[in-house]
Amino acid sequence: MLLLSYSRSARNYNVRTSSFLLHLLEGILPCCPPGTYWGQYQDITKSNAHLSVAERLWVAWYAWVQNDVLATGIMSFAIHELFYFGRSLPWIFIDTLGLFKKYKIQSSKIPTLREQWDCAKFVLLSHFTVELPQIWLFHPMAQFFGLSTSIPFPSPWAMAYQIAIFFVMEDTWHYFLHRALHWGPLYKAIHKIHHQYSAPFGLAAEYASPIEVMILGFGTVSCPILWCAITGDLHILTMYAWIVLRLFQAIDAHSGYEFPWSLHHFLPVWAGADHHDLHHEKFIGNYASSFRWWDYLLDTEYTPDALKRRRERKVDAKKTQ
Ligand SMILES: [Zn+2]
Ligand SMILES: [Zn+2]
Repeated sequence: MLLLSYSRSARNYNVRTSSFLLHLLEGILPCCPPGTYWGQYQDITKSNAHLSVAERLWVAWYAWVQNDVLATGIMSFAIHELFYFGRSLPWIFIDTLGLFKKYKIQSSKIPTLREQWDCAKFVLLSHFTVELPQIWLFHPMAQFFGLSTSIPFPSPWAMAYQIAIFFVMEDTWHYFLHRALHWGPLYKAIHKIHHQYSAPFGLAAEYASPIEVMILGFGTVSCPILWCAITGDLHILTMYAWIVLRLFQAIDAHSGYEFPWSLHHFLPVWAGADHHDLHHEKFIGNYASSFRWWDYLLDTEYTPDALKRRRERKVDAKKTQ
């Protein structure tokens, strides 16, 4: 049982920051019947005043559902849908209202609302038919590999450094598997669907064949699982934070907009939209997801600089012949 695995002495809780929210919640919901989620929350609050609001909400959810597989499954699916469509929404507004036009990478190819709606329907169908059954297996798999679902939550530092490692691991998986998907037969059979949009937009991040979703999604899920199998140290909350950030990365990479404040201007190894937009436009090069180093090291970069370097190398090679 989740509550039993809680260790009171494990860490200090940030009670002060959470107490305001707690009082707010209690003010809105003065008294809830015992069988309801909020009734459960209030019960837990009475005997666990030292827990943060987030931890109480978490424990109340598992206690209320009374089925850990179901609780993790519903939470995982809801987080995925909420953050995927939630993060895509600003890009839909930007495209539809014609905002930031001067930052649009392929400025003549702005997706219509109809195109975005068709894409959203395809993605939703894929989420319900392909991803939902897999998400259902998530809790048993997490338990098998020793992911923690209990409280206390991990520290922000532990979450941050683990997520940074997952970004590096997943980027490696994505580079080689995505590059393999560009091999003729695999491209035709699997990856062609994702390349339907030569000028991508946020919602198109998961517009792909179910096989591709499984192959590339495997990297997102298996990298943290591998980490947990080796170190024995991973909380499912860190996994959720990682998946949300990875979704944000994928959606932003497909946004089609390059801003002066885009992350890669401050973190040059970060791939970003201008890296992946070129991949969709040219169908070749820039295979990595989050970083630029694999494309640079293996000479698959598709940037004006990389093309210039390649041309110069060819000229030098001819001279030496
Ligand atoms: Zn591709
Ligand atoms: Zn793409």
